[in-house]
Amino acid sequence: MSSKILEKFLNENLEDLKSKGLYNVINPLESSNGPIIKIDGKELINLSSNNYLGLATHPRMKEACIKATEKYGVGAGAVRTINGTLDVHIELEEKLAKFKHTEAAIAFQSGFNCNMGAISAVMDKNDAILSDELNHASIIDGCRLSKAKIIRFNHSDMEDLRKKAKEAKESGLYNKIMVITDGVFSMDGDICKLPEIIEIAEEFDLITYVDDAHGSGVLGKGAGTVKHFGLSDKVDFQIGTLSKAIGVVGGYVAGKKNLIDWLKVRARPFLFSTSLTPGAAAACIEAIDILTESTELNEKLWENGDYLKKGLKELGFNIGNSETPITPCIIGEEKTTQEFSKRLNEEGVYAKSIVFPTVPRGTGRVRNMPTAAHTKEMLDRALEIYAKVGREMGIIK
Ligand SMILES: *Cc1c(COP(=O)(O)O)cnc(C)c1O
Repeated sequence: MSSKILEKFLNENLEDLKSKGLYNVINPLESSNGPIIKIDGKELINLSSNNYLGLATHPRMKEACIKATEKYGVGAGAVRTINGTLDVHIELEEKLAKFKHTEAAIAFQSGFNCNMGAISAVMDKNDAILSDELNHASIIDGCRLSKAKIIRFNHSDMEDLRKKAKEAKESGLYNKIMVITDGVFSMDGDICKLPEIIEIAEEFDLITYVDDAHGSGVLGKGAGTVKHFGLSDKVDFQIGTLSKAIGVVGGYVAGKKNLIDWLKVRARPFLFSTSLTPGAAAACIEAIDILTESTELNEKLWENGDYLKKGLKELGFNIGNSETPITPCIIGEEKTTQEFSKRLNEEGVYAKSIVFPTVPRGTGRVRNMPTAAHTKEMLDRALEIYAKVGREMGIIK
């Protein structure tokens, strides 16, 4: 028999979410997560994946994964610190460090895990963390786990950051102070003001932490936001994911050798959770090789992003302040946003609605993620459907 209190809690809360239009329904794919996906037997233009460069289905990636799987098997068999470190993990970390222009790097099972492990390996209850209010959920959770004092600053507001950094420094209450930011903010596609952040960090002796999950593979010709600004030697922690543009799964921290040495003995997901599968590690190595050999995919991504943005803007949609291929279409009210996404879906476009609590209330949006794998024909068709549904619902004229 199940707990009555639990039953009551679940039923009430699920009903509540559904009545407010906040319940997220998950649609399983019957295909790869490429530019065209299949759901319920129907083909749709996919504008919702983070597979920015189309690497998830790249022939070289698949081959690398299969080869490594044949050599090492499907699982690594242990955590990294026992005997779950395979030579492919080391090769991956060396490649990542080179790619990020840092002394060393450490790989994790996911970007989420990086933030769980890296922040609390260095920060504790006697420290403070200055955190952008729009930082990713995994950063928020990682900060909480560290027990450091969390001081939120207004989104990309450098005056607010400076003021709060000064207060924290002058209070004398904290041993260490860190500033932490997304490189690219995933819901709006805007880029952090890194040069100003570094300036403030230097003034108040802050540890700098940039989670570049959406910037790696996208900005800086692929090397990420920090490289984009030419500040590789100024950022202490460069976090990246292997799950988005890289097309596989995993995450990493790139930085100075002593930092990485410390994370290898203190970051708990590294010590207590089984390492990346050999196939995933090998595919990630291949991805970095592909990105290093040519910027073709990166250029195609930007070309497609600019094309889609221009098209949506010309139709009269509000696409916010995006500076990257991430293209939000801001609708506002939660239920209308979900209805809009549903109608796009019925007409042949898969663009997921994103509503509270992922974004603030009243700023519901349909977020579009164009990739290097889309063709102009696919994007034109998507724009036609956007025009049709937008007019039908009175969102555009
Ligand atoms: C997506 C994302 C993550 C999580 O990465 P995974 O590899 O999918 O776990 C972490 N941080 C930011 C900023 C992200 O956008």
